[in-house]
Amino acid sequence: MEPIRCCVACKSRKNKKEFFRIVADNNKNAIIDRKQNINSRGLYICKDIKCITTLQKIILKNRMKLKIDVENDSMLEVLKELGEEIWEN
Ligand SMILES: [Zn+2]
Repeated sequence: MEPIRCCVACKSRKNKKEFFRIVADNNKNAIIDRKQNINSRGLYICKDIKCITTLQKIILKNRMKLKIDVENDSMLEVLKELGEEIWEN
């Protein structure tokens, strides 16, 4: 059985392959874990522009402590990239 994960923005639960996975590297930079195999704490977010936008707002307003240790700016960069990716598809 595939592992079930929870979206950090909307809290919906799905197979982890249906999410984007974001992890922090040693310099607190957010990176997209495309293969979902980086051995580090990660957070999951739906491949949905609504969830991307929600998380961007949460970060900008500093309303939530993220489960990974990452600089806000690099997290916003990654979310922007993922948002653009969704628009292109
Ligand atoms: Zn979601």
